[in-house]
Amino acid sequence: MRYYSTKNPVVLYSLKEAVLKSLPEDNGLFMPEYIPRLPCSFFSGMEKSDLTTIACEVSRAFLTGDVPEEEILKIARESLNFPIPLVKLNDDTSVLELFHGPTLAFKDVGARFMARVMSWLNRDETRKLTILVATSGDTGSAVADGFFGVEGIEVIILYPSGKVSPLQEKQLTTHGQNITALEISGSFDDCQSLVKRAFLDLSLREKYRLSSANSINIARLIPQSIYYLEAGRQVQDKKKPLVISVPSGNFGNLTAGLFARRMGLPVSVFVAATNKNDAFPLYLSSGKFQPVKTRTTISNAMDVGSPSNLARMDDLSGNDIHALRREVMAFSFDDEQTRNAMRWVFRDLHYMLDPHGAVGWLGWEKYNALYPGCQGIVLETAHPAKFLEVVAETLQTEPELPGALRDISGKEKISILLRPEYALFQEYLRDRK
Ligand SMILES: *Cc1c(COP(=O)(O)O)cnc(C)c1O
Repeated sequence: MRYYSTKNPVVLYSLKEAVLKSLPEDNGLFMPEYIPRLPCSFFSGMEKSDLTTIACEVSRAFLTGDVPEEEILKIARESLNFPIPLVKLNDDTSVLELFHGPTLAFKDVGARFMARVMSWLNRDETRKLTILVATSGDTGSAVADGFFGVEGIEVIILYPSGKVSPLQEKQLTTHGQNITALEISGSFDDCQSLVKRAFLDLSLREKYRLSSANSINIARLIPQSIYYLEAGRQVQDKKKPLVISVPSGNFGNLTAGLFARRMGLPVSVFVAATNKNDAFPLYLSSGKFQPVKTRTTISNAMDVGSPSNLARMDDLSGNDIHALRREVMAFSFDDEQTRNAMRWVFRDLHYMLDPHGAVGWLGWEKYNALYPGCQGIVLETAHPAKFLEVVAETLQTEPELPGALRDISGKEKISILLRPEYALFQEYLRDRK
C-alpha cells in the first residue's frame, strides 16, 4: 500500500515515509492509496468471528507487502488484546465500550498499533526517533503507554495546563524514562500548532528525527476501523439500518468509521456529535469551513476548534460536501445537555456514561427522534472514572476506579511548564539533551 497527501494525490509515499514523517511536506495529511474492500465472506461469516480475527484481517489488508505476515499478526494481536463489548441499553440502542485498554480510552487502540508499527519501521535506524504529541487529554497517555520503555524512541507530550482532568494529568506526567510531559499554558489547539510548526521547522531537523503520534498519523487511524467492524459483528438486529454516533473532537475516530464503511461495513449514517466546539456541524450546514475559538467543556478531550481530520473526510467524499452530508450528520450540544443525558441514562437505563459518551448519546437520541426506525450504536470513548469529578458531581455517585487508575493516583507529577509561544518551544527542543 502506498500513501498520498490530501493536498497532492499524485506523489506517492511508502508506509515508512508516511508513518515516520507523519505529515507530508505540503502540510496535507497522508491517506492510503485506496481503502481495501473486505471480501463478502468476511461479512457473511462475521457472527462466528472474533475481535482478534477481525484485527488480523484489517491489518493484513493494509500492511501486507510492507510488513512481514508474522509481524502483522503480532501487531494486530498485541494492539487489540482487550475486549470491546457492545452493551445493549434498550431495543434500538447499544453502547460500544472502547475503554477496556490500559489507559481506559479508545485512543489505546490507535496508539498501541501505531507504537508497534513505528518501532518495527524504526528497527534498523541508528538515530533516535522523537515523537511529538499534542493532547487534549487521552492521546498523550495512550501514546506514552504504547511507547513506554521502547528502545530508540522518545516521546514529548504537550498538554494544555489546567484543561485535562486530574487523573488524565497523572497519566501524562508520571511515566518518566523516555516520556517527557510539557505543560502548555494555553489550549489544545495551541499545543497542536506548536507541534505542527516544529515539523515544518528545518532548523530542528539536524538534531532530531521528528515524528508525530496524533490522529494526523495514519498508523493511528487505520486500526480504529477494526472496532467499527467489531461493533457490526456484535449487532443482533441486522435488519434495521445501522447508525453510529461518534463523539468527536479532532475527527480521527469518525474518519476511521468512514474507512470501515468503505471496507464494506453496512453503516447507514454516522452522527458526528460535538460539544460546543462546533466547527464541523457549522461546516456541514454552511459548506464553508471556519475554525472556532476553542471553548472549554466537560467533554474536554473534544475541545478542538479546528479539527485536523477534516481534510481526510473531504478527501474521502471526493471534496463534495453533498456527498459528505449523505454519510455524516452533525449535531452540537452544551454541557447542560450533556449532564442531563448522563443523569437520564444513569437513572432510567442504569448505565454510567462519561461526558464524551453522553455527547455521543445525545447525537443518537436526536437522530432517532428525527428519523426513527434505525439501530443506534453510541461509541463510549472513555471510562467514566477518567472524569471522576464531573461524573461524581453530575450523578451524585462515584464511579468505581479501575485498578489502572488506582495505582496512578499516588504518583508524583513531573512536567515542564511553557507558555504557548513557538520561540520558547523551539528553544526548549534545541537545548534539550
Ligand atoms: C480523543 C477523544 C475523543 C475525540 O476523538 P477524535 O478522534 O479526536 O474525534 C472523544 N472522546 C474521548 C474520551 C477522547 O479521548
